[in-house]
Amino acid sequence: MNVGTRYHCELAWLGGDRPAADVLVEVVDGRIASVSTEAPASPDAVRLAGLTLPGLANAHSHAFHRALRGRTHAGSGSFWTWRDQMYALAEALDPDGYHALARAVFAEMALAGVTCVGEFHYLHHGRGGVPYTDPNEMGAALIAAAAAAGVRITLLDTCYLRGGHGTALHPVQRRFADADADAWAERTAAADSLTGDGARLGAAVHSVRALDARSIARVASVAAERRQVLHAHVSEQPAENDQCLAEHGATPVGLLARLGVLGPSFTAVHATHLTTDDIARLGRAGCCTCACPTTERDLADGVGPFAELVAAGSRLSLGSDSHAVIDLFDEARAVELDARLVTRHRGNHGAATLLAAATTDGHHSLGWSDAGRIEVGARADLVSIRLDSVRLAGTRAADAVPAVVFAATAADVHHVVADGRAIVSGGAHRTIDVARELHEAIDALDRRVAAGERP
Ligand SMILES: [Zn+2]
Repeated sequence: MNVGTRYHCELAWLGGDRPAADVLVEVVDGRIASVSTEAPASPDAVRLAGLTLPGLANAHSHAFHRALRGRTHAGSGSFWTWRDQMYALAEALDPDGYHALARAVFAEMALAGVTCVGEFHYLHHGRGGVPYTDPNEMGAALIAAAAAAGVRITLLDTCYLRGGHGTALHPVQRRFADADADAWAERTAAADSLTGDGARLGAAVHSVRALDARSIARVASVAAERRQVLHAHVSEQPAENDQCLAEHGATPVGLLARLGVLGPSFTAVHATHLTTDDIARLGRAGCCTCACPTTERDLADGVGPFAELVAAGSRLSLGSDSHAVIDLFDEARAVELDARLVTRHRGNHGAATLLAAATTDGHHSLGWSDAGRIEVGARADLVSIRLDSVRLAGTRAADAVPAVVFAATAADVHHVVADGRAIVSGGAHRTIDVARELHEAIDALDRRVAAGERP
């Protein structure tokens, strides 16, 4: 047996509202081999100050949207005007540029304590929809980027076929589109060779806008055959619900239920504008729901009924989606704080429930049932948060869990271990100069957009 690495956590979250003190975690071959509490100090253990959590799962990401940060706030605008800016950027990305950008974005996630990302990947074709010589070259670039940053990835390869009911694809949308659901199935079957211990494939239906009913059913049956998780944007905008009612006589959730899509391996992303019936259906089927509050507020989408969904039986996960910020503490507390504004009462989601969404349930949504907990046999992901920063100084040990959920930021993460490897220490990424690489990747992309270059 290999000699493991031992970590002595000043405080660790093992579940519940209170942390355990002096937790000794032994890691062998990337897995947690033992966990003991109230352990004496040990000179050969790596000391982790503050509160240590399991690895965070960012269940919904579009890596390239990071390049829009701070650029979409002039004037008023809407989700649809934001989308025009996003499309201009999408048009300029090629595999090398996307790899460079995604590597820096996934490293930014690592700095924020994310050890696993669900990348909702629809930019898979070249200009005009022409496939690359390797039709999964863009997906390969994303998987390599996650490996370089040290985070696991579920590549949610997305089927996207039309601009809407009776609406042809926008010229940029051709880059998102396979010829039909069978072509999507064939292309993604070939992507299987890209997977490994740190990368797996999942499936995604972009939305009920972007696929007809038969194609949605086909993608769902392929995902089930391959035992992959399936994600879809669901009811992000009232206009999407109206169009779905006009085309199918059902809400998006109603349509997905009719097509047999709902179940424990399905994640409804956003789930903002739901009927009482929709909530009951998602809950009854044990579906996951992915809240992305920083993006939902950035795009003025609205506030989803997440407490009702959890009460109905849905498992909640969190995503930074458009990366308006990358901070899962911000996502977690926004779920509760937004619900307080809507309901005008507190205590809709407890701190431990929100941490479970950021860890265990997020990993479940991405198909990694062996991660997101500090327990024997789990993947060795450890995220340590300083409690002596100006934001958290004065925190009592007993209050560390709610203090971190409601006041920590990504900048308070000081040490991150993913699959037994330290990827962040002293608040810095071990191999990537994240700010420099973000600047260089976004600057290069700007030059391409300005020059009107097209891949
Ligand atoms: Zn999204």
